[in-house]
Order: sequence, then C-alpha cells, then structure tokens
Amino acid sequence: MTHEHSPTGLPHYDLYIDGVWQPADNGQTFTVYDPATSQPIATCASATHSDVDRAVRAARAAFDHGPWPHTSPAQRAEILHAIADALEARNFELAEIESRDAGVPIRKTTYNDITLGLEILRGCAEMARKHPYEPLPWNDLPSVSWNFVWRDPIGVCAQIIPWNYAFCMAAWKLGPALATGNTVVFKPSSLAPLSTLAIFQTIHDLNLLPKGVINLVLGPGGDVGEYLVTHPAVDKVAFTGSTEVGRKIMALAAPHIKRVTLELGGKNAMLILPDADLDLVVDGVLWGAFYHSGQLCEAGSRLLVPHALHDTLVERLVERVRGMRIGDPMDLETDIGPLISERQREKVEYYIAVGREEGATVVIGGGRPIGEAFANGYYVEPTIFTGVRPEMRIAREEIFGPVLSVIAYDEIGEAIRIANDSIYGLAASVWSRDLQHALSVARRIRAGTVWINEHHVLNPQAPFGGYRQSGFGREMGRYGLDEYTEVKHIHVDLMQRRQGRLWWDTLLPE
Ligand code: NDP
Repeated sequence: MTHEHSPTGLPHYDLYIDGVWQPADNGQTFTVYDPATSQPIATCASATHSDVDRAVRAARAAFDHGPWPHTSPAQRAEILHAIADALEARNFELAEIESRDAGVPIRKTTYNDITLGLEILRGCAEMARKHPYEPLPWNDLPSVSWNFVWRDPIGVCAQIIPWNYAFCMAAWKLGPALATGNTVVFKPSSLAPLSTLAIFQTIHDLNLLPKGVINLVLGPGGDVGEYLVTHPAVDKVAFTGSTEVGRKIMALAAPHIKRVTLELGGKNAMLILPDADLDLVVDGVLWGAFYHSGQLCEAGSRLLVPHALHDTLVERLVERVRGMRIGDPMDLETDIGPLISERQREKVEYYIAVGREEGATVVIGGGRPIGEAFANGYYVEPTIFTGVRPEMRIAREEIFGPVLSVIAYDEIGEAIRIANDSIYGLAASVWSRDLQHALSVARRIRAGTVWINEHHVLNPQAPFGGYRQSGFGREMGRYGLDEYTEVKHIHVDLMQRRQGRLWWDTLLPE
C-alpha cells in the first residue's frame, strides 16, 4: 500500500510491481525532503536489484504474454482518457504535491504543469488511435504488391525522469509508451518522486490496466537506475536528466543495442534583435531565465543583446527583478521558489563564484535571500551577470539555477554564431518586431525548439528534444509516439505469380 504512515509518522510509499504496492525486499527506505524548509515529508521504499528484476519480469510478462500490446489503439485511447480524467479530478491536490516536493511555485503547478501533463496524455490517446498503420507514399500507383508500414510497440521500456518537472515528464513518458502498447518500468528521481507516486496510485485505483503493464521502482539513480538500464530484458530506455548521466546511459544500453532516447541539458540562448519590443522582452527574458528558478532544461540562460540596447535592457531587467517575490512555493504570489537540494544550491553558488572569477559582473543577486523565511530552504537570489564573454564557463556550462549571463553583440551573424557555439542544442528564443527576420534567424539556430517572442511554451503536438549533446529522439506529438514503436514493413503479394518461378522471374512479362 502506498500512503501508509511509517514509524517516523511520515507518509510512506512503496514500490509498485505487477499491480501490487510492496516494500523493498530488504525493507530499505529513503527520505524525501521539502526543499523550502529542508524538513522530511515522506519516506519511500528503496528498491534492491531483485526488486528491479521482479519489476522488469512483470513488465516482460505483461508484454510477451499479456493482452496489452494487442489491445486496439481505440481501447488504449479510452484508458488514457480515463486516466487523464481521474488525474484532472485531483488537479489541485497534485499541484500541491508537486510544489511541496520539488519547490515549484504553486502558480506554475496549478496553472501549467498539471494541465499540460493532462493535455499531453489526452493528445497521446488521440494520436494513438490512428497510429499503427501507415500506407507508403506511392501505394496508389499500379503495383504488383500492397506495401504498408505497421508500427509495433518496442516492448519493455525503462523510463527515468529528473526532479524538475516530474508530473509533466511522467505524463509525457507514460503517455506515448502506453498509447502504443508498450509496458513500463518507471523510475522517478529520489529528490521528487511524490507526483509520480500519485499518478501510479490513481492508475492503480482505476484498475483499467492489466497487471504488470506499469511498474514503479524507487531509489538512487546510480544504483537502481543503472541496474534497470543494463537489465537484458529491457528493450528501450527513455531518459531525461543531465548530459553526464545521458552519456553513461548510452554506453550502458550499447551491449544489448537497446533503443535509447535522451533529453539532456541545455545552454539556451535568448537572442534579442535590434528592433525587439523591449516591453515584451523584459518580462519574456525573466520568464525564460528564472521560471522555476532556472531549473528547466530549456531555460534561457544566455541573453544575447545588441550593444546599443544593452544598458537600457539590463537596467530594466534589474528593476523588474527587484519586484519579484522570492519565497514559499505554496504561496500563489511567489515568483521564485527554492532550488531542489543543498547540492544543487552548492552547484549554482559555485558557478556564481566562477563567473566572478572570470571577470563578469553581478548586477543583481549573487547570494542567498536574507530573512527567517529563507533560513532553512535552498534559496538563491535571481542573479544577472553582465560583461560575459562567450568563452566563459558561465556562458558555456549548464548551471540549472536562477543565473542569467548577458552577452553583448555587434551584428546578427555574430549573435547567431554565439548562440550556436555550444555543445548543446535544446532550445532558443528570438525576439523581434519583424517576424520575417525573426523566422530567418530561427532557421539558422541549431536547436530542437525555437520560440519567437516567447520562451518555454510547450505544445503537446510539437516535438521536443535536442540537437547535439542535448540528446536525441523527440518527445510529444506524433514524433514522441514514433520513438515507442518499431517500424515494420509488410509486403502483400497481389499477383500470385510465384508458383513455378524462381528468383526475380515473377517480374518477367507473361
Ligand atoms: P541526473 O541526471 O543525475 O538524474 C536524473 C535522473 O536519473 C534521476 O532519476 C536520477 O535518479 C537518475 N540517475 C542518476 N544517475 C543515474 C545512472 N547512473 N543511471 C541511471 N539513472 C541515473 O540529474 P540530477 O538530478 O543529479 O541533476 C544534476 C544536474 O543535471 C543538474 O544540476 C542539471 O545541470 C542537470 N539536469 C538536467 C535536467 C534536464 O532536464 N536537462 C534535469 C535534471 C538535471 P536519482 O535522482 O534518484 O539519483
């Protein structure tokens, strides 16, 4: 059972294997903390390797022998809609769980994260209805055979997500996997597993999925996650997280040639063109850089500004940041919450020190907010660096915190070169009043998503994913569904001329 209270008095959550909530087989647990207070809020079972084995076996059996891969897309769509409806009924509760667990301001979870996650689930259901059969483009030509593509589910999918956008990511991983008939072993981050647990509890209560179709293991990524990825009975690994771990996962998946999709880091540019509307840019840039304290892979962490606009824009950004509210993520008025953990705060503070040593200037922020309310949470002030040069580490490495590096440029060609001069290629935004010009710049940016006069806005029908070391494969839309299928060509002979003919003789004239 999930939600039982442990001896500590905290809610306790177990593993979910083959349709049953169960403790780790050695009884091991770990604690989950509220990043705004550093207080413990829950305990969870910490899976052993034999728990992972059982979870993978259950998913394997549900795929190889169960009805799930053979249910019709329409049936699967109905089930996904029912899951989305049941989760929607818990919208506010889920928003609270996510905000408490990951320090995400509740305005974001209530009005964006849960809604977007549900839209994605519903989108997957609808797209899956038409998915398995695809005619070939020239099928209508006179032909001796009928050829088409059938999309098969891949099999057992290991899905690993980070802490920063957990509900949405769980939805955009489970949605396409289930819509296309796969089975799943899921591992959320130990830092923020609670919204994923709520999703699993909701699905369990609905009792619509056959046992073993979805399984949940919990515990440290370096142990539980790694063991799951290397498991020979896993067919596909879908991972979101750091580029460093992504590299490792690719190597671990190699011996069995597992299908892999990776959504990794970013050092995303926000490119301000000389004719940009600064009223739009000020709020847009702060939203791009500091939404969820910059802990989003697509966050705009580099601001490229023409020299002529630099001082005015920086002045206006600083003034606007002064008006932002840092504080309790559970307060609807809060703009900036805490970082996820002490380790993440140390990392961000390390980069702020690096930026100073490299000679960049902190024009606002750079420290921890002062006051009783911040005493125990992992807060860092929104920080803006000016005087940043493209070769500096704060302009090249993913910080994953509320730190914006402002780089001044002379001409557009130079700005595009700087934007593209990165190991990453996840996202970017272009800001201009001239849409034609903005579009021509957008086409030259090497990144998986480019917004014009916006940032962060995800569309459940549009692909999301990276170029270069931001990963490969796409999530969401039909592109996301494709990543969960094997493509099978089916050839149906229409001539029946084989009898008595060998080799290509069937093609000779009668
Ligand atoms: P990680 O990449 O370490 O973790 C992401 C997920 O992978 C978690 O579920 C984690 O489990 C799991 N994991 C960790 N190591 C392994 C492994 N060897 N094999 C399989 N799974 C593993 O990200 P962190 O949370 O540690 O954050 C570190 C840095 O990564 C951040 O500072 C940021 O720069 C970047 N990051 C980028 C994200 C993005 O979306 N691009 C998202 C999150 C982080 P567990 O947490 O339980 O250990």
